[in-house]
Amino acid sequence: MFSKLLIANRGEIAVRLIAACRELGISTVAVHSTADRDCLHVQLADESVCIGGNSSAESYLNVSAVIAAAEITGAEAVHPGYGFLAENAHFAEIVRDCGMVFVGPSPEAIRLMGNKSRARETMAASDVPILPGSEGALSSREEARELAESIGFPVILKASSGGGGRGMRLAWNAEELDAAYDTARNEAENAFGDATLYLEKYLENPRHIEFQVLADASGRVVHLGERECSIQRRHQKLIEESPSPALTPELRMEMGKAAVAATRAANYLNAGTVEFLLSERGEFFFMEMNTRIQVEHPVTELVTGIDLVKEQLRIAAGEKMTVPKRLQVRPRGHAFEFRINAEDPETFAPSPGTITKLVLPGGPGVRVDTHLYGGYCVPPHYDSLLAKLLVFGRDRDEAIIRARRALGSMIVEGIKTSIPLHLKILEDRRFQEGKIDTHFMESFFD
Ligand code: ADP
Repeated sequence: MFSKLLIANRGEIAVRLIAACRELGISTVAVHSTADRDCLHVQLADESVCIGGNSSAESYLNVSAVIAAAEITGAEAVHPGYGFLAENAHFAEIVRDCGMVFVGPSPEAIRLMGNKSRARETMAASDVPILPGSEGALSSREEARELAESIGFPVILKASSGGGGRGMRLAWNAEELDAAYDTARNEAENAFGDATLYLEKYLENPRHIEFQVLADASGRVVHLGERECSIQRRHQKLIEESPSPALTPELRMEMGKAAVAATRAANYLNAGTVEFLLSERGEFFFMEMNTRIQVEHPVTELVTGIDLVKEQLRIAAGEKMTVPKRLQVRPRGHAFEFRINAEDPETFAPSPGTITKLVLPGGPGVRVDTHLYGGYCVPPHYDSLLAKLLVFGRDRDEAIIRARRALGSMIVEGIKTSIPLHLKILEDRRFQEGKIDTHFMESFFD
């Protein structure tokens, strides 16, 4: 195992990674921006290096500063967390070229899955079901129109290099598609530096179901079951759960097999997530593969009892994963994750500022992953995620009751948070019955 690891991230995920390192006896190096001098991950790590100014571009996205910090401190490995440089193939390559280990898949796998149209092609070639749509990238508006007419509207235009729920355009007919084509290309060029688009059939009321996978150097590939992430706002996940109320054991097995096939097709190593859309009719389609640890990974940890970050570190160090050979096919309970953001629960406007009072819930079946502490000042420069409240129960109903209890006793004063929104969602009948799809939040607000 490594003796020293650099964490190229901040906030709750940096704190989570430090926890795994502590348990494995790995010493940790934190990096931080000037605005994050007092962030909890800096206080918890064994060493820390300031890598630049407040903006992400000056600090957490600054490849040479991160690499210099790793070299100066003698780190043997770098864990990127999620966001920032986590899916940057160039960064993974430089880490490797500098003789350090990147905790994640190879730069080649990151590059392949980062190009969503190529990812689609790869999956199609390996018999993983994909939505009807373009083979690879679109070359013209005319091609988009012909294709849409042959597969049928509605269709969705997506940026090949897209992510974070951005760069997608829905079209219900040929006129809308014509109009969307240039806008989508411009948006993609501005947001991702790549105007390439692809097109696929738009599913009207799908569920977002993703599978956690692990692959180690011995050639073993396993899936650890699914997470349902249909509660989204503007394609950003708000609440995740496992197991999905929509999956039968048979469908879980079938989708899990496809997830493993997708992982093998990408020649993938380490932890990853294969995302699918599940139609109302129970058909599933590959959407994309995320080549990093996900925000919502603890949901899977709660239902499987496996520490995914420790597995990532073992795999990166060339060891075998320690997942039992016969991991129970049936999940051992039910888990939810609620993302607590620093934002107004009604307008969703960001709400940075100083935490004047903080009381975190605990007790049976409750886990909070956070970097918050009383007196901490939430900076305005980064993602608004403050904490992830996770609950675990014997079944979905018990988990919902726990969630209500835990969210109801969580106090964050000084800034606005999404806690009141989550409490309202918990009172929704359709949510309680598990009758959810990716449009749940739109109808919730109506
Ligand atoms: P990103 O990588 O930007 O998050 P995804 O491809 O994962 O983009 O899509 C994000 C969300 O957009 C999905 O969870 C789903 O709600 C919606 N979506 C994407 N593609 C489709 C589609 N073909 N039909 C219906 N909804 C879609």
